[in-house]
Amino acid sequence: MIYILTGGPATGKGTRSDILAKALNIPHISTGDMLREKAQKDEELKASLSRGELVPDSMINALLEERITRKDCVNGFVLDGYPRTYAQAVELDRLFEKYGLSITKVMELVVPDELAFKRILERKKCDNCGEQYGIDFPPEVDDVCDKCGGHLSIRTDDTKETLAKRINTYRENAKEILDYYRDKGLLYTYDASHNPESVVEDALN
Ligand code: AMP
Repeated sequence: MIYILTGGPATGKGTRSDILAKALNIPHISTGDMLREKAQKDEELKASLSRGELVPDSMINALLEERITRKDCVNGFVLDGYPRTYAQAVELDRLFEKYGLSITKVMELVVPDELAFKRILERKKCDNCGEQYGIDFPPEVDDVCDKCGGHLSIRTDDTKETLAKRINTYRENAKEILDYYRDKGLLYTYDASHNPESVVEDALN
């Protein structure tokens, strides 16, 4: 079971990937999370992420290969944030061939731009455990994590200016990637405006 969740910024890829991964008991692999973790010790990368730029393929491809070949991926995984370019889609096929893997479904999430902006400007994440909050899942106490009591912060790339750039970057690359998977009969498109739990049924049907 290997699911790829794709879509523009704030279409709910992170939340839905988490729900799906938990339901299927497989890891949720978020390339954005992997890069944010790496950026804690890499100022240049941190600045690049804050500007909403895509990182070089060489960096992300190496991180991805290392991650999907770990033991916890034997029963599959949910991939969130990769591929983001046509070249990455081709690289993913190369890796899958090398390791004998195959994609179960590519799930494209779509929401209106206004909702993406609203979601992004209100989303926060726990500095300690990584739990996400937003308009659909507010914390019980402002800026405090319900799960562990950690402090909630906004992402440095969650600003109006950066979001516009990230949406444009997504659109520039999306068509080629979506066509690639549509041609292979793997692409399914969903309205992700509400009910994130529906991802489980959508994935299994
Ligand atoms: P995300 O959490 O998926 O929104 O990703 C946050 C940021 O990480 C993106 O705006 C990019 O700067 C970077 N990023 C994540 N995944 C990739 C990827 N597959 N290729 C290049 N950059 C990426």
